[in-house]
Amino acid sequence: MIRVGPSGWAGQGLFATETIPAGTRVLPYQGERISKAESQRRKANGNNYIFRLNYAWDIDGSSLENTARYLNHSCEPNCRAEIDRETIWLVAERTIPPGEELCFNYGFDLSDYERFPCRCKARVCCGYMLAREFWGQIPQPRGEGTFSAWGEGSDRE
Ligand SMILES: [Zn+2]
Repeated sequence: MIRVGPSGWAGQGLFATETIPAGTRVLPYQGERISKAESQRRKANGNNYIFRLNYAWDIDGSSLENTARYLNHSCEPNCRAEIDRETIWLVAERTIPPGEELCFNYGFDLSDYERFPCRCKARVCCGYMLAREFWGQIPQPRGEGTFSAWGEGSDRE
C-alpha cells in the first residue's frame, strides 16, 4: 500500500502505491514506549520522533524499523494520528490516490514550535509543524494574508 521515496518537500517521504480509501488504518507509529521524563530527556537531545501516546507515556519512533517515521508533516495533511489503546495509528483522512505523498500534522504545541519550521507545499502553511488549534497564536507568516482569512481545515476534497 505504501513505499518510501524522495519527498516533495522534505528529504524522504511515504507514498501511496494504490488507492487508499478514507478511514484506512495505513500503518502504526511504532517505537519504544517511554515515560514523560525520559521523553523530555530525549527531546532535549534532539530526538524529533517522539509522539504522545497518553497522559503517562510517549512513543519514541526514531528506530529505523518504524516505517511511519518517514511520514512528513503537512499543514494540509491527508492522514491523521489516531490512538487506539497502546497504538498510534496513521489513518487516511480522505481517499488518497496512488503516487500521492502521505503526511499528517505533527501537532506540536507552542512550547518550542520555532525549532520546527515547516516548508510543506500546502496552500495554507502556518510556517511551523504546529497543531492547527495554535495557529492563531503565532506571528503571521509573510505574504499569506491573515489567519482570520484562512479556512478551518482543508478544502482539497
Ligand atoms: Zn506547512
